[in-house]
Amino acid sequence: MSRIQIHTTAHARRRPGVGPRPHGRIAGAFSTTWRSLASATLLAGALATAPAQAAGPIKVVACEPEWAALTKELAGNQASVYAATHALQDPHAIQARPSLIAAVRNADLLVCTGAELEVGWLPVLLRQAGNAAVQPGKPGNFEAADQVTKLEVPGRLDRADGDVHAEGNPHIQTDPRNIGKVAQALGQRLIELDPANATVYRQRLADFQARWTQAVQRWTLAAAPLKGTPIVVQHRGFPYLEAWLGLKQVAALEPKPGVEPSSPHLSAVLQQLQGQPAKLILRAAYQDGRASQWLADRSKLPVVVLPYTVGGSDRAQDLFSLFDETIDLLLKARR
Ligand SMILES: [Zn+2]
Repeated sequence: MSRIQIHTTAHARRRPGVGPRPHGRIAGAFSTTWRSLASATLLAGALATAPAQAAGPIKVVACEPEWAALTKELAGNQASVYAATHALQDPHAIQARPSLIAAVRNADLLVCTGAELEVGWLPVLLRQAGNAAVQPGKPGNFEAADQVTKLEVPGRLDRADGDVHAEGNPHIQTDPRNIGKVAQALGQRLIELDPANATVYRQRLADFQARWTQAVQRWTLAAAPLKGTPIVVQHRGFPYLEAWLGLKQVAALEPKPGVEPSSPHLSAVLQQLQGQPAKLILRAAYQDGRASQWLADRSKLPVVVLPYTVGGSDRAQDLFSLFDETIDLLLKARR
């Protein structure tokens, strides 16, 4: 059994034996000894259920680093994981490069946020990859946002309001309680796709949930002083963090979601802050820092650059250190 592989764009390289195979895991499963035994019936049955057993680790493509990290927690050696984006990329908009298309073509499972976060690139990628097993609605297609209660679901949809997501705000990973819910469903999905390793997935899920529940309690307790803190955000990427910790968003630097901050809008925010003060300016590590710095220079508010996902800072190298770092950064800046 090969070790788990976390690929990022920076080092998305095939390794012999574990990289995408030209004909997927079925071909691998039916090589050598099985080939002679495979009657038409057996083959048809195997294709219908796409068994993961005897074919090496289950191949997972995660759209965002947090889901790559969660899959690693839940599957361990049973999965090889390819992350489509890294923490310093804007997950709303990436290019479907050839290595990514190849990874999706050979994937057994796609783990994405959903709720239209990837609407700008994933449908194209799925078309180009031509892998029936990971199309929407198939067991090989897992959407994390389906597992949680979404915030900011619009009452009406008007493109004039900017890049508003019809299904609600997709940035669910900033509340660790959401990650616990996603873990439960993702663990079940792994069992469904790879029943031969069900015992391993069940154990790992229980172990993760025990550690995660404890960590969430610790973070919630530590973050208590942040309750009620008024904040300015760059993109509306933190509603779940705000709801969890009781932060109050008073302004956003993007005039509309997905629209770059403009000088007139920034001036208006600066003016607004005189009557409605804030304590912190939040932005994600992947976002350009100029707008928040402009406002910081004039308002004297600290900018907090949150890692936002796994890999977004030197310290945030897994889901646990992601939240350790997030809470520490907020507390330090709030002082
Ligand atoms: Zn967004």
